[in-house]
Amino acid sequence: MISFLFHAAFPEVAPFIRIEIYGRDGGPDRPRHRIEVDPPDDAAAGRWLALTMPCVACGTLIHPIRQRRPKSSRGRRTARRHLYFAPTCPLSERLPCSRGPAARDEYLIIRRAIEWTTNKTHVPAAVTPVPQAQTLFASGVREP
Ligand SMILES: [Zn+2]
Repeated sequence: MISFLFHAAFPEVAPFIRIEIYGRDGGPDRPRHRIEVDPPDDAAAGRWLALTMPCVACGTLIHPIRQRRPKSSRGRRTARRHLYFAPTCPLSERLPCSRGPAARDEYLIIRRAIEWTTNKTHVPAAVTPVPQAQTLFASGVREP
């Protein structure tokens, strides 16, 4: 299936995508992060909520940018623009799509693309970031 990276709207949406790490990574196969979308105004929010693409797992036409339900009526005003990215069928319709390898790969593709271009990943203090690859010298090998 085709990544949202190649969707015609990706260049417009990308600057407003924010990667949220919400738990310790369970290793390379199970990263725990959300892909949040912060539209600049209601017009953009409306446009992006209407976007469609095939589910990366099964190909059914889906809306990849969705709205979070407000937690309470008091939060409704701000929650209106609280959007997120999801590359598969909604959980309530086809659970396996969101739990399979295609979804995992798509999350990583979008996350990497955003990190390369914006470096905006937000890592809460409680979460240990993924360590950088150790260099020759960091691993204790001395220069000859
Ligand atoms: Zn699907």
